[in-house]
Parts: sequence; structure tokens; C-alpha cells
Amino acid sequence: MIDRERLIETFCNLVKIDSPSGEEHDISEYLSNRLKMLGLNVTKDDYGNVIARSEGDNPLMLSAHMDTVEPGRSIAPRVNLDRIESDGTTILGGDCKAGLTAILEALDSLNQDKVKHIPIEVVLTREEETGLIGANNLDFSLIQSKEAVVFDGEGPVSQITSSSPTYIGFDIEITGQSAHAGVEPEKGLSAIKIAAELINKLPQGRLDEETTFNLGLIEGGQVRNAVAETVNLQGEFRSMNLETLDSVNMQLIHTINEVRNAYPKAKLLEKITTDFHTYKIDDGSSTLRRIKSGLLSLGLKPTMQRSGGGTDGNVYRKLGIDAVVVGMADHGMHTKQEYVSIPDLMDAAHLVETLIAH
Ligand SMILES: [Zn+2]
Repeated sequence: MIDRERLIETFCNLVKIDSPSGEEHDISEYLSNRLKMLGLNVTKDDYGNVIARSEGDNPLMLSAHMDTVEPGRSIAPRVNLDRIESDGTTILGGDCKAGLTAILEALDSLNQDKVKHIPIEVVLTREEETGLIGANNLDFSLIQSKEAVVFDGEGPVSQITSSSPTYIGFDIEITGQSAHAGVEPEKGLSAIKIAAELINKLPQGRLDEETTFNLGLIEGGQVRNAVAETVNLQGEFRSMNLETLDSVNMQLIHTINEVRNAYPKAKLLEKITTDFHTYKIDDGSSTLRRIKSGLLSLGLKPTMQRSGGGTDGNVYRKLGIDAVVVGMADHGMHTKQEYVSIPDLMDAAHLVETLIAH
């Protein structure tokens, strides 16, 4: 049986192990040991992602990521009625440790009740938060699953992610000419002024229902009294619509070229990369059918929710795995106000149990 006390204990143990992106060694050791004790064959790929498998063909993948965002060190979880929250100085780490907890509690429960489960592959990734890096480096030659349930959505487990956008990141490095600002400003070419012109010409915010554009970082100049030589800009845009994405991309390149032509003595270097690719889940997805019937059997009503972000599910789907992202009882992700709803987390564990019980 899914056990509330054991579930809370597992969750609190997990969040007490620091695991900011890139520092997943301790959590991956802990999880590997837990999964071994539950009778799974556990390996790590070359990148440090954990893959735990049971015997049998045609497994179902259960996936979550091991890393958390900052401030996420020395997390002190506390139970407050039906919620688990942090002490207010850090995030809680429910993203994605609530997902890990749901998987572990279901396996603990089946193990205790001596109930067999279908073949499964538990895939726990590193560095999801910094751009799905673990999933992108996952050794897929070790993966057999054709279907995957990814625990990385906000809200209750009945909240299924229906679609996710393509995400394009860009860096622009502007180099002008430095000069003493008081003595010989004529000799300078301000990278800050050029950046300002460029920024003014670029879109910003929500462009349409399914498209957003953001400049998130700017740094440049060196001192108050010198003409600024360099500026770096970082931005991103995302859309569900590939035609819109193309046209925003062309607008970005066109704008950079316009500014480049206006300042032939300056150097503008741009780097544009696609971090993850869009998907839409349709009724043909057999993973979706599995999840929906599991939810209904638990008396939970499935809802489909569009997401503006990406998860490891984007990577899996691009590689032909029918991956579906569900909620994991977490609210206010990436904030100090983050909390996990205990009844929702029980539901998530129940869903895992229902999906895999033999
Ligand atoms: Zn996450």
C-alpha cells in the first residue's frame, strides 16, 4: 500500500541531499542504492544518468531528473498540514524530487505487498534544469522503452502536458572600440549604444498565443569613463508554430544584419541554437491512453495542459519514444514559496503503482 509516512520520509530524505545541476553525484548514488535494493539492475551511462531496469521485454520508462535549481542547498523541508514546504530561504526541490518520490514509493509499496510489476526502465537524468543536458547526452543504446511517463509537470498527477514549444536560444557579442570618454571619445565606438539600437528593434514578450521572445541577460562595458568596447546579450524565443519560429528567427537575423550594416566598424557575432523541439500529444499516443485509464481507475479526472517550457520529454519524443509528462504534486516551482501537496503526491505514487502493477 502507498504509505503516507514513508512517502513523506522518502521525499524529505531526497530534498536534504543537495543536487544543484552539475552536482548530482551524491543523489545519484543514493538513488542507485535504493533502486538496487528494490531488485532493479542499475547502471549509469557515461554521462552519469541513472538507468535501472527490471527483467523482461518491452519495458515502460519512468523518468524524472535528479538536479534542482538554486537556491537549493541545505534545504530544510517541513510538513505543514497537507503540504511540504521549505523554511523559506531555499526552494523546496519538489521539482523533480516529488517525481522521484512517486516512483520510489510505488516500488516500495509493490515490494512490501509482494506484488510483481511489468518490465520497467527507470531513467533518472542529470542537468535537466540547465537545458536538458543529461537527456541530450543519455546513452540511448542502453534504453529499450518505446513509451515513457515523465514526472516533471506542475500540479496534480492528473494534469497532463499536451504540448510544449520549440526553444531557440541566442547569444550576440558586440565589439566596438574603446577610448577615453573625456579625452578622445571620437576615437571610440560604443558597444552599449549599438546594443541599445539592436534591442530597440527586437521584439519582446508575448508575440502571439503560442510565441514568446525574451532578452534575459545583458553585460558589457568596463568602467564609467571609457567608451564601452564589448556587450554580450543572451535571449531566447519559443513557439509551438514552426512557421512563426522561422519568421522570428529571420527577423532576428535581419535585425542583426541591419545594425551590422549601420556600424561597419563594429563586430557583431551571433550564435543561435535550438535547445529543444516542440511536440503535441494526440489521441494516438498509447502512453496517453495508459495514463488516462490509470487516472480514471483511481477516480482522478485527466486534464490536458499546454506548457511553455521543456522537459526531458521533448528529447525522448524527438527520438521516437512516446513520452508523456504528468504533474508531480509540485506548486510554485523554482521559487522559495514552492510546496508539494501530500495528497497529490500520494495520487502520483498511486498512478505509478497502477501503471506498473502486474
Ligand atoms: Zn523539472
